[in-house]
Amino acid sequence: MKYISTRGQAPALNFEEVLLAGLASDGGLYVPEMLPTFSTEEIASWAALPYHELAFKVIQPFVSDCIDDADLKKMVDETYAAFDHSAVAPLVQLGSNEWVLELFHGPTLAFKDFALQLLGRLMDHVLAKRGERLVIMGATSGDTGSAAIEGCRHSDHLDIFILHPHKRVSEVQRRQMTTVKADNVFNIALQGNFDDCQQMVKDSFADQAFLKGLKLGAVNSINWARIMAQIVYYFAASLAVGGPQRPVAFSVPTGNFGDIFAGYLAKQMGLPIAQLVVATNRNDILHRVISGNDMSRGELVHTLSPSMDIMVSSNFERLLFDVYDRDGAAISDLMARFRTDAVQLDAARWAKVRELFDSQAVDDETTCNLIREVHAQTGYLLDPHTAIGLQAGRDCNRDRSIPMITLATAHPVKFPEPVIKAGLESPQLPEGMADLFERPEHYEVLANDLSVVQAFLASHVHKA
Ligand SMILES: *Cc1c(COP(=O)(O)O)cnc(C)c1O
Repeated sequence: MKYISTRGQAPALNFEEVLLAGLASDGGLYVPEMLPTFSTEEIASWAALPYHELAFKVIQPFVSDCIDDADLKKMVDETYAAFDHSAVAPLVQLGSNEWVLELFHGPTLAFKDFALQLLGRLMDHVLAKRGERLVIMGATSGDTGSAAIEGCRHSDHLDIFILHPHKRVSEVQRRQMTTVKADNVFNIALQGNFDDCQQMVKDSFADQAFLKGLKLGAVNSINWARIMAQIVYYFAASLAVGGPQRPVAFSVPTGNFGDIFAGYLAKQMGLPIAQLVVATNRNDILHRVISGNDMSRGELVHTLSPSMDIMVSSNFERLLFDVYDRDGAAISDLMARFRTDAVQLDAARWAKVRELFDSQAVDDETTCNLIREVHAQTGYLLDPHTAIGLQAGRDCNRDRSIPMITLATAHPVKFPEPVIKAGLESPQLPEGMADLFERPEHYEVLANDLSVVQAFLASHVHKA
């Protein structure tokens, strides 16, 4: 399978190249040239498969010209064996036709483990085959960093450097990153904010000379392999509630549009999905585009759901590429205008977006109220991101006879503040993590200065 850039200029690549490349050289994002599709009968025949076998079925067509079936099998088996629930992605029923899909049973208690546990293994495998090394550099405001570190820590061919804003991530999130002891893992606490971290990563990708021949790799959701791995749980959830014969609906707490885009792809691949709801917090650019054709940057506000505090959702470009009939020049032009101005989609294109998605923005107060209400009614504790998804699913529901499945993207223990604000007791760390606060931490505090950070990387990378 070939992968092409959303801006139409960069060369087409195969899976292996896309995995290691991240962003395309023309500034676009890679997408498959053609999606594999499955018939309803074929999907129905997977109903009895455990999660890792289903993952193999869904992922195999995307990678088969680069990765042997036996190798892929081994990697998905190992990836999902590390999850602490035998269903991997269990469903919990909260109301009539209302479900949450728990995606927080991986090692760092958030859904990013589904992709990053596999991504680390895929990269390691491909690099071993090529006899190469790669340097992962990423910025995090919390969840991505710990999931990426957990995904890469066992690799013999990767060094990973994660920048977080010094003193500006929650203690659980910091400790999940800094208590990992591995000689290829480097935590940098940057004396700046998250935007400074991100800028430093961007500048380093743009000019990699400081690494003297080694290359940088990306673990954020611009990396196609992350999206690919997330398609699987839409199939799993559907099969668990009577799909594919019975259509289902999903509500997805959204930041960078990565997770919901995977749901859109599942639908394009043949899974009967009746409705996709985009749920945002007050950083609501996606809700404004979908509901009012207003694609303009707002002010970034800090909310109780920090993993969705994102001003510009990078993966939305992948959707626009389809909506504009895969016209790379049109996307290139649109994104260039968007860099400086608010833009509107052509009326017919916007109509297509509206056909595909519903949306809602949910504020902090409503989030806390829902956490309190659901706990009172069912005893179930929602994390704030999941609560936003659930609220949006309720607000946008078009057909109550169809199961509405909200993606539960994090365990509530990661975000205790809204739980406490809702008047509830702060949740306990799960068993394997109970001593998180006693474990020693490893991180380097560095000045907000590109040359300081790059010198640190250059002196700590492992050469081939
Ligand atoms: C990353 C994250 C999100 C947003 O996911 P996107 O793929 O960026 O849309 C939502 N909730 C949690 C807990 C996250 O960590």
